[in-house]
Amino acid sequence: MQELFDILREFRDSRGWEKYHTPKNLSVSIAIEAAELLELFQWTKSIEDEMKVLEGKRKEVEEEIADILIYALFLCDVAGIDPLVAVKRKMEKNERKYPKDRVYEF
Ligand SMILES: [Mg+2]
Repeated sequence: MQELFDILREFRDSRGWEKYHTPKNLSVSIAIEAAELLELFQWTKSIEDEMKVLEGKRKEVEEEIADILIYALFLCDVAGIDPLVAVKRKMEKNERKYPKDRVYEF
């Protein structure tokens, strides 16, 4: 994780982009990249269609996931949030919120 942060910071800072990395700008960027991921699945009508997208556009899906993660990590950096701690805490909360012995229908 530290190596990843080093790569991201070097990329950002060597271009002088840290001034653009405000919490709002990074939040907007996460939403835009999530929309780009969603666009890949636009007009699919079934799980089979969705799996075809995963097979046929695997590289594009990977890149949009990376974009989302990159902006999320930049936001963690600006906010001083440890992403691993944040995920562990949220999963603990989810464990309490959704007990495993209950049946869920969505
Ligand atoms: Mg993108």
